[in-house]
Amino acid sequence: MRLATYISDGRPRLGVVSGLAIFDLEGGFARILGRSGPGSMIELIEGGEAIRWDVDAVLAAGGQESGHGDLWHDIAKVRLLAPIPEPRKNVFCVGRNYKLHIEEGARARGATPAYPAIPEFFTKSPTSVIGHEGEIRLDTGVTQKLDYEVELAFVIGRRCRDVPAAKAADVIFGYTVLNDVTARDLQFAHGQWFKGKSLDTYCPVGPVIVTADEFGSPAGHALSLRVNGELRQSSSTDDMLFDCAAIVESLSAGMTLEPGDIVTTGTPSGVGLGLSPQVWLKDGDVVEAEIAGIGVLRNLVRQVQ
Ligand code: MG
Repeated sequence: MRLATYISDGRPRLGVVSGLAIFDLEGGFARILGRSGPGSMIELIEGGEAIRWDVDAVLAAGGQESGHGDLWHDIAKVRLLAPIPEPRKNVFCVGRNYKLHIEEGARARGATPAYPAIPEFFTKSPTSVIGHEGEIRLDTGVTQKLDYEVELAFVIGRRCRDVPAAKAADVIFGYTVLNDVTARDLQFAHGQWFKGKSLDTYCPVGPVIVTADEFGSPAGHALSLRVNGELRQSSSTDDMLFDCAAIVESLSAGMTLEPGDIVTTGTPSGVGLGLSPQVWLKDGDVVEAEIAGIGVLRNLVRQVQ
């Protein structure tokens, strides 16, 4: 199942995406089951299997060929938000998880590459999250070195702690595309990464969450990023040093994870920092991050001063 949050009547609504159409889940619950459904993506995730069965029932009765065609909208005509528009916590991030990206980063700093022995975590502020087609702010009063990073992100489905890698699939609700937008000058000036990765709009996510049952194994998915149509990053999730299961085991050790928590898994090589000469995002750039099995997350860069 492909789940999205979109704006209708001026407020966020849950939708299920099928091909080029999006189904109004709120309207579907009211008409087909005669009651209200989950009011947000986090509510849907927290509802667990019981809610999933209800959603399946609504979709089975409300198909595009049923008498409920008016509940389906052309996805090109609605405005998508991030699937979880306002995460309750910071987004958990893994730094330095692809070998070639570690090497390009070291080269850019004139350093010898060193590979982490365990996943290295940092976070991004929840207020940095935007959705598909949202604009990335280029505030030249704050940064001169705006960069992109395509990443596979997963969403936690149930409250958990101390999850061994072999059980990680039990706690992952689904997967999405995340662009870990970064102000490189702030990242390096601060010595840690939080500020340079948490400015407003620096966390595009979407366009949808693909549930784990539909996405299948998180291994072997192509991921890429284009700027104005030019391919900059191209890799496979197979190239991660620490796969999703290893990340769950490490992050959850002694620390509770909750439904709706977003965990992003690091970026492959090809970021602007690693190019020679280095290239930074500029006003008007169109950034498209894509992962096979999920889709394209597209954002426009807009200079604000
Ligand atoms: Mg990153």
